[in-house]
Amino acid sequence: MSDKTKIWLSSPHMGGKEQEFVNEAFETNWIAPLGPHVNGFEADLEKYNGVAHAAALSSGTAALHIALDILNVGPSDIVIVQSFTFCGSANPVIYRGAEPVFIDSEEETWNMCPIALNNALEDLSQKGLIAKVKAIIPVHLYGMPAKMDEIKAVASSYNIPILEDAAESLGSTYKGTFTGAIGDMGVYSFNGNKIITTSGGGALVSSNKEWIDKARFLATQARDDAPHYQHTQIGYNYRLSNVLAGIGRGQMLILDQHIEARRKNFERYQNLFSRINQKGYAVKLQPGLENSFSNRWLSSIIMDPAENKGKDREGLRNFLQEENIEARPLWKPMHMQPVFQNAKYYGGDVAAKLFEIGLCLPSGSNLSEDDWARIETKIESFFS
Ligand SMILES: *Cc1c(COP(=O)(O)O)cnc(C)c1O
Repeated sequence: MSDKTKIWLSSPHMGGKEQEFVNEAFETNWIAPLGPHVNGFEADLEKYNGVAHAAALSSGTAALHIALDILNVGPSDIVIVQSFTFCGSANPVIYRGAEPVFIDSEEETWNMCPIALNNALEDLSQKGLIAKVKAIIPVHLYGMPAKMDEIKAVASSYNIPILEDAAESLGSTYKGTFTGAIGDMGVYSFNGNKIITTSGGGALVSSNKEWIDKARFLATQARDDAPHYQHTQIGYNYRLSNVLAGIGRGQMLILDQHIEARRKNFERYQNLFSRINQKGYAVKLQPGLENSFSNRWLSSIIMDPAENKGKDREGLRNFLQEENIEARPLWKPMHMQPVFQNAKYYGGDVAAKLFEIGLCLPSGSNLSEDDWARIETKIESFFS
């Protein structure tokens, strides 16, 4: 191993004001899963995303879990989930005792294929199972908005609500609307590697006030309005801490700068690979739709060895590792995960192929010029 400092795929990037907000929480003794920073952070999220209501929660996974509860997902129900994603999109379906049914991706955005979705709903309908389908979870992977109009058209023809997993796409827009605010509910994540972070955290957003009020209620152990502790239903301990919400408020001030930096990273890779492709290679960056705007959370490539003189993504990943540069294969689809081996799946091999040939490259908003010199030199030498 080299003694070079590690270049991370995506690392936390503080702007400077976070510490002040955290200090304020200490000075006012609001060290609890409620307080002015929680309210302030929610207001920031509502304003930024143009969505009426936001509940700040302990993680994106917790937000999805609570959303499924609000949509009355229970044992023997079905939830349709994009297969090409992180397990946080799918695990909450299992927490509710329900069954995930996975859908393949399409090649234009790498997200849920509306045609495969339609096939799934048609088939479930024929099997008499459509009444069990309680939600559809499309994901905006690596920041790229999914084909929401097409997905919404299919969903509404069966009257099934859409829960957007916008964990990776805070700040991305589709036809002018922020991801998370397009479906019936949306989820953001503020985990350490996301575009902004509260170290760990998440949010559930919706234009439906009742739902978000209910999310806050469920996230604080479903406490009824009584002087003693009284419960008429099962809740969760999923509220975001006021200390961490302080970090979130600081991060919201620099979200746009982070998006700009990440989009510059993407451009830089575009330039790098267009130089490399002139030498007979065919490396492709994540595509997308014309009328959508990606925050470019992670710059990701696909490189088919058949089009790249036999060079493959594991070769590149290991080569970068030598220089202590972190890169990671694209998400392994959920329908290929041992834990979901018995789950239903609709589609072809688009997601499987993306996993086989795809790689996420260092994409932090805090990459230095020195980091970039190392990344570019190493990638260029791999292809020379
Ligand atoms: C990060 C992530 C989640 C989960 O968010 P956490 O805050 O880590 O629980 C869910 N879905 C996707 C697509 C993610 O990338």
